[in-house]
Amino acid sequence: MKHAVIVEIISVGTELLLGNIVNTNAAWLSEQCAALGLSCFYQTVVGDNEERLGRALETALERSDVVILSGGLGPTADDLTKETAAGVMGRRLYMHEPSRKHIEEYFRKKQAGIPDSNWKQAMLPEKAVAVENENGTAPGVIIEEEGKTVILLPGPPGELIPMFQKSIFSYLSDRVGGTIHSRTVKICGIGESKAEAMVRDMIDAQTNPTIAPYAKSCEVHLRITARAESRERAKELISPLLDELYRRFGESIYTTEEGVTLERAVYELLRERGLTLCTAESCTGGRLSARMINVPGVSEVFQSGYVTYSDQAKEKILGVSGRLLEEYGAVSEQTAEAMALGAAAAAGADVAAAVTGIAGPGGGTAEKPVGLVYIACSVRGRVRTERYHFQGDREKIRETAVSSALILIRQCILDSHGR
Ligand code: ATP
Ligand code: MG
Repeated sequence: MKHAVIVEIISVGTELLLGNIVNTNAAWLSEQCAALGLSCFYQTVVGDNEERLGRALETALERSDVVILSGGLGPTADDLTKETAAGVMGRRLYMHEPSRKHIEEYFRKKQAGIPDSNWKQAMLPEKAVAVENENGTAPGVIIEEEGKTVILLPGPPGELIPMFQKSIFSYLSDRVGGTIHSRTVKICGIGESKAEAMVRDMIDAQTNPTIAPYAKSCEVHLRITARAESRERAKELISPLLDELYRRFGESIYTTEEGVTLERAVYELLRERGLTLCTAESCTGGRLSARMINVPGVSEVFQSGYVTYSDQAKEKILGVSGRLLEEYGAVSEQTAEAMALGAAAAAGADVAAAVTGIAGPGGGTAEKPVGLVYIACSVRGRVRTERYHFQGDREKIRETAVSSALILIRQCILDSHGR
């Protein structure tokens, strides 16, 4: 296998510098590079300026093996990435026939005339490779020179992402040598710093496979990536690490499958145990049910989501007693429990989750501060209620409450219906 390949990303566009658009391309490309086992040490943003872009590219080529540029491949005068890269690499541009035909074809399908300016997109630096763009007119470009590679990609994510997935990923994978395989271990209910501490020794000892932690809302993902001659061998390298992570995190791991979200894991648990679910929400305003309903096929298990924001709604729809609301308040352990039981009865569901809290910014008191949230989960009448004090603004508190509710539902089902 070859040595570690160092990659660098240059995002081109004055709009990026002005903050008019968010640099999602760089984030996405970096994630892909990490998945490929490439080391990315620098990201640069530079405006549509030939001189500064040229300097950024020269600097990048001094310290990295592969430089990926995005943006500025369009037809207009301010799109000058290709011209600049060709200049830096000492290549002339020529009319590339297949790209010219592609542009012709593209506009024929759109039944539109071809603006003169678009022909410039068919110009290719000498000895470069054109990468087909299925979603636009500008081809991607790969230029190789003395072990260095420059890759030019169009700016619109709708063109860049498919092009990368179809052509660039495998190109880079070959360049790294061998194949790359990765698995993501998704952990819930353990905070980021605690989870990292629990794997610190494994991260410090890593070479191949590597372990990279990513923090999500109420979740920590550990991505294990192995590089080997074959996919089978890469899987073999990953397997003992997976076992070790299961030993350390146990049932806090909700999945190691690609594409399985926390809500999907909850759905699968409900389906496997033959249980139905309903929700009763106050401060989260339906976001818990919305997250469950994100999962295709959830109708098998999901029955109703009640949004009961006022005391009257809690009384009328969930049968929470007015006396209880008066005595303990809407944000209380007793109300959360009564909401869960009331929802279960109203929907006729096996499992009911209820959320009530103070999302702020107003409404907090010394006794019941902003961020105080009670979440109750009943499974066939047995209720567990947890008290939380979440940090952050209204949005963050509500999002965290929803994730915490999903984690509590999962925990309650595992406790009552076995692992
Ligand atoms: P076009 O043919 O559309 O001009 P281009 O390759 O020249 O494409 P730019 O002109 O730099 O690319 O950007 C076009 C659009 O693509 C931007 O307006 C923006 O919507 C999106 N875009 C560009 N760069 C990025 C980026 N780094 N992250 C996210 N979106 C981007
Ligand atoms: Mg452009």
